[in-house]
Amino acid sequence: MSVLTINNPATGTVLRELPADDANSIARKAAAARKAQPAWAARSFEERAAIIRKFRDLLGERRDTLALTQSAETGKPISQARGEIGATPGRIDFFLANVQSQLAARLAKPDVDVPAIGAPGETEEVVTFDPLGVVVNISAWNYPWFVGSNVYVPALLTGSVVLYKPSEFATLTGMAMADLLHEAGVPKDVFQCIVGGGLAGAALLEQDIDGVFFTGSHGTGAKIAAAAGSKMIPVQLELGGKDPVYVADDVADPEAVAAGLADGAFYNNGQSCCAVERIYVHRAIADAFRGAFTQAVKGFVMGDPAASETYLGPLTRDAQIAVLEGQVQDALDKGATLLAGGKRVDGPGAYFEPTVLVDVNHTMDVMREESFGPIIGIQVVDGDDEATALMNDTEYGLTASVYSRDRARAARILSRVRSGTAYWNCCDRVSPYLPWSGRGHSGVGSTLGLEGIRCFVKPRAWHLRAPA
Ligand code: NAD
Repeated sequence: MSVLTINNPATGTVLRELPADDANSIARKAAAARKAQPAWAARSFEERAAIIRKFRDLLGERRDTLALTQSAETGKPISQARGEIGATPGRIDFFLANVQSQLAARLAKPDVDVPAIGAPGETEEVVTFDPLGVVVNISAWNYPWFVGSNVYVPALLTGSVVLYKPSEFATLTGMAMADLLHEAGVPKDVFQCIVGGGLAGAALLEQDIDGVFFTGSHGTGAKIAAAAGSKMIPVQLELGGKDPVYVADDVADPEAVAAGLADGAFYNNGQSCCAVERIYVHRAIADAFRGAFTQAVKGFVMGDPAASETYLGPLTRDAQIAVLEGQVQDALDKGATLLAGGKRVDGPGAYFEPTVLVDVNHTMDVMREESFGPIIGIQVVDGDDEATALMNDTEYGLTASVYSRDRARAARILSRVRSGTAYWNCCDRVSPYLPWSGRGHSGVGSTLGLEGIRCFVKPRAWHLRAPA
């Protein structure tokens, strides 16, 4: 077995060294999962739900300890780690309340005269739902509790078993999820954690599996789609974004909007798939907006992620700093102006100054390529059509937002923007009640919402004809 080294991104020191899975152990785990699946699916929904409810409760009880683990290995500020874990039970509740109805058999022709159904010679048409089977869940590190549970909770509730590969940057958290699920009553082979990086993920795709649910970058998503292609199994990809916001000239309070958007851009160090990545502000309010935005950013407290007052910790992946430096340099070379930040912080740890760029345009990478860090470009526009065209000028299509007093105006703009989620006067927000999906390079399929449950079952069509 090889070794996976877990680093603390705040200090650059080694936290743990773990034995990683290899091709042989992954094949053994996949075989055990296959064997365990029928018995898990044969349990009643109530039994599976009671176990997941217990998991939900344990999560609430252990929140603070789990947050320490997550914060240490990802650098997420402790208050934000607690916030994520504290909000996960709410998402689990959505699944507990809604999965059973999506599993129920239904008559395909409910409007047909009921006495005729089942009558000699009549054909009764019924739809039932089978669990997918063995589900692979390859996950990201930035919101490991959210993006993981969005997949494995509905998968387990619908009767599938899960091979869960946490990101190599959130492995201790992934192992803690497995421990908690097992303690709650999920059998060991029904939920298994795979330890390792990209090679372990690739090895998982070679197993006898029934579906792949991936959260991560577009580049890796494309590799996964290609690897799974010939298997003829569902492949769901929740990928990156370059999420735009347009602040129209009719907002009542540009300064308040700026403060809210600074949080939307810099929360979790900008390492959110739906973080605000670029802003278009109407010329009429641009000066007030940029001033207030920069002031808000300069007020963010950066420091030790374990400290309760810290808002900005280190980046989780040191390698991302080179991407950010490249985007800043590219923008400056092409005429941008820095209003804040712009470089790595001297000293240990993967810290990068929160960075605000203005005088930006779409020749610059910072306006079209995912930054996934504490950096934002603010571009001035002269109207709705220009803003709409610029919002669409990227391969990504995860979320888009318009701030305006006028709902109809915002709806008009947002309906023309290619995105899976549309926000009016809000941003950087996910609801379990709504499907989370991307367009273009932001992925295929949906998690959350009823759509995010249905993707874990396969419909079976019954044509039932009583003998004449
Ligand atoms: P990543 O693509 O580097 O890695 C994601 C996972 O894929 C990891 O578990 C990794 O080990 C695994 N992996 C790497 N190569 C693989 C391969 N060849 N085969 C199989 N698995 C492989 O992404 P990341 O850095 O963990 O996450 C950041 C990205 O995730 C950002 O682009 C972000 O926008 C995106 N994201 C999207 C959502 C969403 O819901 N749309 C949510 C969170 C994060």
